[in-house]
Amino acid sequence: MYTKRDHTKLICDVGEITALFHDTLSMEEFLQKITVMITRHMECEVCSIYLYYADEHELVLKATKGLNPDSVNKVRMKIGEGLTGLALKEKRPICEGQAKNSPNFRFFQGIGEEKFESFLAVPILRGSVEIGVMVIQSMKKDYFSAEDIQVFRAITVQLAATIETARLLITLNDKKEKPPKPLLQDLKFIKGRCGSEGVALATTMVVNESLTDMQQYKVDGGKQYSEADLHRAFEETERQLAGLQVKLEAALPDMTALIFTAQILMLKDKGFTDSIFSLIRGGANSPQAIVEVVHDYVLKFSRIEDSYLREKIYDVKDVGRRLLENLIGHSKAQHDYHDKIVIAKELFPSDALKLFSQKIKGIILLSGGATSHVAILARSLNIPLVVCDELSLLSLDPATEVLLDASMGFVYISPDQFVKTQIFQREDLNHNISGLKKMTQEHPKTGDGVAVKFMANINLLGDLKAANEFKADGVGLYRTEFPFMIRSNFPSEEEQYLIYRRLVEGMPGKEITLRTLDIGGDKILSYSDYGKEENPFLGLRSIRLSFKHLDVFVAQLRAILRSGAGRRIRILFPMISSMDEFLQAKSVVQECAHQLKAEGKEFIKNPKLGIMVELPSIVEIIDEMAREADFFSIGTNDFIQYMLAVDRTNDRVAQLYLPYHPSVLRALKKVVDACGKHGKEVSVCGDMANDPKYLSLLLGLGLRCFSMDARYLPRMHERLGQLFIPECEKLTQEVLAQSQISRVTQILERVHS
Ligand code: PEP
Ligand code: MG
Repeated sequence: MYTKRDHTKLICDVGEITALFHDTLSMEEFLQKITVMITRHMECEVCSIYLYYADEHELVLKATKGLNPDSVNKVRMKIGEGLTGLALKEKRPICEGQAKNSPNFRFFQGIGEEKFESFLAVPILRGSVEIGVMVIQSMKKDYFSAEDIQVFRAITVQLAATIETARLLITLNDKKEKPPKPLLQDLKFIKGRCGSEGVALATTMVVNESLTDMQQYKVDGGKQYSEADLHRAFEETERQLAGLQVKLEAALPDMTALIFTAQILMLKDKGFTDSIFSLIRGGANSPQAIVEVVHDYVLKFSRIEDSYLREKIYDVKDVGRRLLENLIGHSKAQHDYHDKIVIAKELFPSDALKLFSQKIKGIILLSGGATSHVAILARSLNIPLVVCDELSLLSLDPATEVLLDASMGFVYISPDQFVKTQIFQREDLNHNISGLKKMTQEHPKTGDGVAVKFMANINLLGDLKAANEFKADGVGLYRTEFPFMIRSNFPSEEEQYLIYRRLVEGMPGKEITLRTLDIGGDKILSYSDYGKEENPFLGLRSIRLSFKHLDVFVAQLRAILRSGAGRRIRILFPMISSMDEFLQAKSVVQECAHQLKAEGKEFIKNPKLGIMVELPSIVEIIDEMAREADFFSIGTNDFIQYMLAVDRTNDRVAQLYLPYHPSVLRALKKVVDACGKHGKEVSVCGDMANDPKYLSLLLGLGLRCFSMDARYLPRMHERLGQLFIPECEKLTQEVLAQSQISRVTQILERVHS
């Protein structure tokens, strides 16, 4: 706990207040957290926040630490009423050594103020705009000094904007009588979780089965179309699809855009076209014929048990819709997600790529977690994504404007101008690239001069630009699976080689870590034959799949080895659960090297081979593993999920997904110590590496190397400069001594408040 003379620390650190937002479910809870933080820092018993509502000319108690919590929302006063009201009226601090003796003191029944003597109220203002009043109280008489008044005033100034936003949000959702479940039209604001940061303002479009339903097309039965019309529609559809393909290729070179190939193929499929034309010749109207044939294909596809067909159904419906629209001149494609915020119950990474090609503005995902791969991909694609479980959003009127403040996990329905301006202004500040660049340095160091390596995670080649701009110290993780996910077949060795070569050339001179295929879990290959699994995260995922499809593994390793000729590359194996698996992977690399040598091809001779620490089974044999492998990368996203048995994509258990669980931290310590003992590099490449909250803990564990999505580099560089290793070590020791999550939470709250 800070001593009184340390009060100024709060002023400097209060920028971290936004961190409180992240784990907070409601604004009321957020305000409550502020009061707790302030009582701790000001070393007093009470802190209360009153918000001012101009319409009612009233100050309302909204949060309190120390007074009767039942008084919240009940204690109301007019401006000028009591000491609190006076502070707002006169726009100045009111400090009383024995408040009850003041003529302005007003006693509120049941609030529990009787035992408190000293009182300090400071108005919360933005310019001359009245936001509320913050009050602190102590049982001791004459407790608050002139310095306390200064400090408390400064804190209030710093918090004013945040509290104003909280008041705005509370007002938006405040109902006199809340129905148990708000009706959609009443929803103004929804609090979800951030999947990919950013802000988007647009109307929405729901992706679900009903939307892919052809029946929604109101075909005018009376109007007749000639065969020539139908041919024209086919041509136009093909032209559109080819155009989309080209656009996508430019945006995502590593995808070499095979997304629309399947659809073009379908359009050219004789079976498909013949069926349509033969129905017409049998008397059916053209639009009806299209609907019927598409319907027939969907039925056929859905009868076959193969995940491959999930994609095909989507494709055939998409083609059918496009064809129909081109035929009947339907109002601009109903499936055109261009400039829309997409609302989806479920989305796979390949869907996200398809949507991206249509230049969507944002995504609201009604299932999935913040570390799910669709969220990871959305970050690379710079698409703001919020995860929330408000299913009623599925019936949102498409004309409704929605504002996604994804960084905060907020969804505003029909926001007013004030909200829009506030959020966009903040976002402009955040996106000041030159400012962000200045936050990064070539060889980052802690406040006490200890060098730390900050590398980039690359999901798509497009990420390289930001990684270079923000001075990444190499690539700590290239997720090779993304180019695999969008194709309709395993990419060939040559195709992979071209992609990996572009990657390696994208950061000349720096070390590039390529992880072998990590398919499975929530990353599904439509063309793989492994079928549906009950527990895909525990199934044929990752290295297991590579061993099963040895030909695919070999092609990938050969492509990687070739791309590394004359370069500094490392190979990383995901989901390793035993020494045996690592040795097996190693032997496949050796076999590939022999082959390439025999073929006279150029390749990297002795690349470093590393292990992803994602499974708890590694921890107990880490000493032996550290002797064997060249480097380690801790994938906290999976490590936490497997250690704690908490699905990383399941929002319902998100509160149990705790990076700072004592078992997680102690296990990480074992890994770091073993690597230190054997002189092997160990880094963290899961999302824990990009959260400033955990940097001191991780440094304290001895970690000096991190890899993260490039967009997070500036904030982590900045945080690093504020930290001192001895303090980090002290913190980590204190945390490692705890066995209860609640104790760790308290310690971290203390440090971050
Ligand atoms: C991880 O598990 O932390 C990791 C980096 O791998 P991925 O997120 O791709 O599963
Ligand atoms: Mg992983």
